Order: sequence, then C-alpha cells, then structure tokens
Amino acid sequence: MNIKTDKPTSAVSTRKVEEAEATAFLERVRSNQHHLRSGLRSHYDFIVCGSGSSGSVVARRLAENPKVHVLLLEAGGRDDVPQVMEANQWPLNLGSERDWGFQSKPTASLNGRAVHMAMGKVLGGGSSINVMVWARGHKSDWDYFAEEAKDPAWNYDSVLKIYRRIEDWNGSPDPEYRGVGGPVFVEPAPNPNPIAPAMLEAAQSIGIPTFENQNGRMMEGDGGASIVDVRAKGGKRQSIFRSYVYPMMDRENLTVLTGALVLRLNIEKGRTTGVDVLLDGVLIKFAATKEIVLSMGAIQTPKLLMQSGIGDEYELRRHGIPVLQHLPGVGKNFQDHIAFDCVWEYLDPLPPRNNMAEATFFWKSDPTVPTPDIQACLAEVPKTSPENAARHDMPQHGYTLFGGLMRPKSRGYLSLAGPSPNDPIEIEANFFSHPDDLKVALECVELCRDIGNAAPLRAFSKREVMPGPLKGLALEDFVRTAATTYWHETCTAKMGTDEMSVVNGRLQVYGIQSLRIADGSIMPRVTTGNTMAPCVIIGERAAEELSKDHGL
Ligand SMILES: Cc1cc2nc3c(=O)[nH]c(=O)nc-3n(C[C@H](O)[C@H](O)[C@H](O)COP(=O)(O)OP(=O)(O)OC[C@H]3O[C@@H](n4cnc5c(N)ncnc54)[C@H](O)[C@@H]3O)c2cc1C
Repeated sequence: MNIKTDKPTSAVSTRKVEEAEATAFLERVRSNQHHLRSGLRSHYDFIVCGSGSSGSVVARRLAENPKVHVLLLEAGGRDDVPQVMEANQWPLNLGSERDWGFQSKPTASLNGRAVHMAMGKVLGGGSSINVMVWARGHKSDWDYFAEEAKDPAWNYDSVLKIYRRIEDWNGSPDPEYRGVGGPVFVEPAPNPNPIAPAMLEAAQSIGIPTFENQNGRMMEGDGGASIVDVRAKGGKRQSIFRSYVYPMMDRENLTVLTGALVLRLNIEKGRTTGVDVLLDGVLIKFAATKEIVLSMGAIQTPKLLMQSGIGDEYELRRHGIPVLQHLPGVGKNFQDHIAFDCVWEYLDPLPPRNNMAEATFFWKSDPTVPTPDIQACLAEVPKTSPENAARHDMPQHGYTLFGGLMRPKSRGYLSLAGPSPNDPIEIEANFFSHPDDLKVALECVELCRDIGNAAPLRAFSKREVMPGPLKGLALEDFVRTAATTYWHETCTAKMGTDEMSVVNGRLQVYGIQSLRIADGSIMPRVTTGNTMAPCVIIGERAAEELSKDHGL
C-alpha cells in the first residue's frame, strides 16, 4: 500500500523541486540580463547577429568559455508567450509580430500570385515559430556541401558525429545513428493521431517502406515514410534558443538583447570592426574585438551585406552604396522547397495532436533520379493558398498532404529596393522558372493523391477536396495556384569556391576579415527536408572554426 501511495507523492515532490529550480533560474536570468543591458559595453569579443536556429548555437558555444564576452543581437522580442511555447499554437505566429512577413514578387509562373514567406522575428527565430520537425537532411546533401566547400568537415560522416553529439534522443535506442545527453531533445511524435500511422500504411500499400524514424537509415537511401521526429516535450516547444542559449543566460559573459535591429556593418580597411544597432529607438555602435557572425537568416543576412557595401557591384552602385567588396553571389541562388496542398475532408473530425504534422514521406519522382526529390508532411488540418481556397469548397475539418520539391532546380534572387535599412528587400522567388520543377510537382501531386486515396487513409475521409482527378493543363493550373513556400528560404550567400560563392568552407566572407556567416544562407543547395536541423549543424560548424581560430 505504501508503495502505491509513495510513487505519486515522490513524482509530485520531484516536479515541485524542478518547478522551484526553474523559477529560481528564471529570476537569476532576469536579474543578470537586466544588469547586463543597463551596463552595455562598447565592445565585445564576438557579436552574433540573430538568435535563430544557427545564431543561438554560435552564441552558446562561444559563451561556454567564461573568458569570452558575447553579444547576441535579436531584432524580435521575447519568446515566453503561449503562441511560441505551446507546440499546438504554432500557426498563430504566422502574420503576427513574430513573423517578418516577407512577400515574394508576384509572378506569371504562379498565375500572377505573390507568396507570403514567413520567417521568425523573435528569440529563437524560425525555431520559435516553426512546425518543430527535426530533419537532418540526406546523406548526399552533406557530401555535396563537402564537395562544394572542398572540406571534409562538412561531409556526412563528420556531420553525423555532430548530430550524435548534440542530440538527446528519446526514441528507441540506436547508438549508431542517435545520440543522448546533448542539448537537442528530440523524439518521434508520441501517441500520434491515428491518421498518422494510417498514412504510413497507405504509403506502404503503394510500395514506400516504413522506417523507425526519419533521421537514420531513411536519409541514406531512396526515401521512405515515418512518424516525424519533433522538438516538443510534453506539448511544449523546444526551440533552439531555449535549448542552447537560455540555460547560459545567468552568465556574466553572455548579453542577449531583444528589440536590437542590426542596421549596418562597420568595415575599416577590409576588416569588420562593429555594427550599428537600433536599440529601443536609439542608434548604438558596438565594436567586436575578434569577429562578427551574421545569423539573420537567408533574407536579412544578404540584405545587411549589400547595404554595408558587400555584394554585386552593379546592384550596389544602382543604389549609390559604396562598394567595399564585389561579391556577385550575395542574394543570388535563392532556394526553397516549392510546396502545394492536397486536401481531404474528415469523415469524423480528429483533433490535431503534437505539432499537428506527425507523419512524413520522402520519395523519388522517377526511379532514375539518384535521391529522393519529393517530400510530403501530413498536416492534420485543411490548408491551402488563399487563391486556391477561394476556388474550392474548403471544409472546416480535414487533413492535408503538404507536398514539396526537395531538389528544386529553379533559382531566385534578392534585390534591394533602396540603400537604407528601412527599405524593404525584393524577393524574386522564381518558382517554376525551371521546367523540370513543374514536372516533379505534377508527379508529387499524383503521388500524394495515390497515398491520400489509398484504403488506409480513405477510411478517414468523406471526400477529396483538392485537386481531384485533374489532368494536363488543369492539373498544372492547380499546382501554379497552390504553390507556396515550405518556409525553407535558403542559399543566398552560398558556401563554395566558385565566383558566386560568398563564404569559404570555414564560413568566412571572401575578401573581408573578421566576418563570418552562419545561417541558412550559406547552404550551396537546400537540404532534403526541413531546414532547422541543418541550420543547427551550420551553427556548430561555425563555432568549431571560431574556437580553432581564436584558441577558445
Ligand atoms: C512557419 C515555419 C515553419 C517551419 N517549419 C519547420 C519545421 O517544422 N522543421 C524545420 O526543420 N524547419 C522549419 N522551418 C524552417 C526553419 O525554422 C528555418 O530554416 C531556420 O530557422 C532558419 O535558421 P536561420 O538561423 O537561418 O534563421 P532564423 O531561424 O530565421 O533566424 C534569424 C534570426 O535573425 C533575426 N534577425 C533578422 N534580421 C535581423 C536584424 N537586422 N537585426 C537583428 N536580428 C535580426 C531574426 O529575427 C531571427 O530571429 C519553418 C519555418 C517557418 C517560418
């Protein structure tokens, strides 16, 4: 009898102790950061601009050395709001003050439509507003990065070691592929909605094998289907900022400033010396004695570079910006996973669970392509573009196969609207500018329909809402009206060695000293699958190189 009553009592008391410790830590963080903010230094050893999926990692790794003073600058605000913390509230961030709310330019290839391109503007960046899927990328992506960088530190074997070191895997033990005890808690979506395993059965019924999770063997071959790996624990989002930076914020050597908009780099004789920052409406100059790291994401990092005089000389001169370094690749090579929705209405509505997207598959549009070039996530709500919604009878309750192109061949570019930091950036996403992308998109829609209409999923559906059995030009028109972003904007300051490369394999900006880039913009090619985990690797790699160069 004692045993029965003791267990819950000790569980309750353990929880109370943990809560008390968390409250005490929060108090220490508040008081330390208040103290640091009211006594800002004029210079720091390192300044990290942007607290997203990569920047949080860089700041944390540098600040692990107590002798190193790190300033982390974030334009957005605090993340301790339910829309960020509660995993199932993520859609509420779209269009909110935590979203930069970029828009691509309208284009004929999308039937004259512009696409809303959300990116996180809050502590944690994208990792605080995203769908929390942890997707490492395909083996071939990392081997390609290594080839482009001419540096084996980026190859799959090296990166797999980093993944194992940083993960705290809460699924079935798999030491060959998964690590435990690191900062990145990750697990297969627990107790998923019954429709998620049904999607795996449906995929299997047309020959797509099921894997134990999406991040081990499945990402070394032709693809497969699995329950997704998510970064949520007990229904709470685990952002990269919360996992990496927050536990260090009671330290004297790590200053984290919110509402700090980086306006411009200060560059003297080819060396970056500091940044101009708008903090609470006041212009402040911070100097970096060692290095500055740009981690502001694939739209804002190239914008800042160009407005600071680093970019294509023709583009800079067009806006009267003095050219400090001609790098024609800045803002070019824009990539995203072009995406579209196939929707079914529920027979009996099932409330979404976990991150509302608990199953996924990767597959090939054609058996001859070397690696998977199609992915779809099963979203447990009906969703589509506003233009497409207006054409269809959208149900209140339904589910979506959100398909996308993993190896798009279309390339977009960014251009300045003016020289001032207040001038917006223009995004020419160029979706479907390469004809092969449309072909793969049509294959992807057909595959989603085959899976969505296979018996295991048909059992859940009242009707297929879209696209239905369209063919030829009608199906093309559907895809062009549906096409949207997978929110994986990347590749606009690519790593490599050709003339369009912006950084080398050690992430140093060509031609400028003491300046690195660590964020999604350095990808030479968008990875296969969602992009947060690869951005964490980019942050870890940047930290490795900085530690080596500065003897940290
Ligand atoms: C809605 C949504 C859903 C997504 N779902 C997933 C998912 O489920 N899984 C996944 O793997 N990926 C997902 N992604 C993509 C993923 O979150 C991003 O690829 C990743 O966060 C990019 O990391 P980053 O470091 O390049 O930039 P970000 O994480 O975007 O961080 C950039 C940071 O810099 C700050 N910043 C920008 N400009 C300035 C400035 N001038 N001054 C100061 N600070 C500045 C920003 O506010 C932001 O905090 C999603 C993204 C979105 C938007």
